[in-house]
Amino acid sequence: MSQNKKEIVSQLRKDLVSGTWVVFSTKRKNKPDLYKKHSHAVKIDSNTKDCPFCDKNIASQEKDTLVYLKNNGDWSLRVFPNKFPAFSCFDKDINKREEGPFEIMDGVGYHEVVVTRDHYKDIPDLEIPCIAEILDAYQERYIALMNKKHIKYISIFKNYGHEAGASVGHPHSQIVAMPIIDPDVFRSLNGSENFYMSHRECVHCIMIAWESEAKKRVVYENEEFIAVCPFVSRVSFEMRIYPKKHLSYFERINDDQKIKLAEAIKFCLSGLKNNMNNPPYNMFLHTSPCSGQTYDNYHWHVEIFPKTNTWAGLELSTGIEVCSVLPEEATEIIRK
Ligand SMILES: [Zn+2]
Ligand SMILES: [Zn+2]
Ligand SMILES: [Zn+2]
Repeated sequence: MSQNKKEIVSQLRKDLVSGTWVVFSTKRKNKPDLYKKHSHAVKIDSNTKDCPFCDKNIASQEKDTLVYLKNNGDWSLRVFPNKFPAFSCFDKDINKREEGPFEIMDGVGYHEVVVTRDHYKDIPDLEIPCIAEILDAYQERYIALMNKKHIKYISIFKNYGHEAGASVGHPHSQIVAMPIIDPDVFRSLNGSENFYMSHRECVHCIMIAWESEAKKRVVYENEEFIAVCPFVSRVSFEMRIYPKKHLSYFERINDDQKIKLAEAIKFCLSGLKNNMNNPPYNMFLHTSPCSGQTYDNYHWHVEIFPKTNTWAGLELSTGIEVCSVLPEEATEIIRK
């Protein structure tokens, strides 16, 4: 085939917040079908006997930092320190020092696990009040941890499936309170602040208004929240859930908003489970740090990153991500 008969096989889109580029390879045929049949489907581990988070085994865990009880006195949700923490010894000093040209400090902080009772019921199978209860726990622990010494950022995330990093199959999520603001959040904060400074408007509010109007990438919407497959998705079937109002601090979420967010999360994760053959995913919160500064130009949100493909070379060498499904196609599949 001669050179001039070749088709354009990809499109580049630039992220408004980070300024990074994503390559969408748009010409591979029948991709969405391939993804529906991908082989990464998460299977529920039916062995509850050795499950460290099931009721009869959980007593061996460290002391709970939070327990929610049902009317009959049985527990429905509990939060306790992670047995294999990334940060610990919160009563110690941070011990900042240098080694050659490098800076180091001790990993002082908190790492907790949030566990719901039923081994077989994850978010798509839970009732809305049960999902809102998970959000209650996030808020309650966030507020308790945010004012502790040394804590600058609190990360709340869920790994679903072994390939997404979950080592225990029982439904759970994690809260990590750390003495640094991690680079990903830092980039997002900086990008948001810089955009505000040059446009006098929140970059996230602009994107939400544009998506809400365009409808093409809106997975779900209610009075308080909108879920989209972002125009510049970094991975196939990426989703982001934003409060529609400009809100900077997750910890100020009210009870009505928790119900509405629970509905949005349930819809998005059910879409993945039912229409995408239950892939592994990571879900996490991006919110303003609790470092004592104000971040009124930031707009908190939840991100969902399904693991449906593995591209690494180009990304590692250039920082350019390659995504093989357009967010417009992804939206149609997830929301149907
Ligand atoms: Zn279990
Ligand atoms: Zn905003
Ligand atoms: Zn984010």
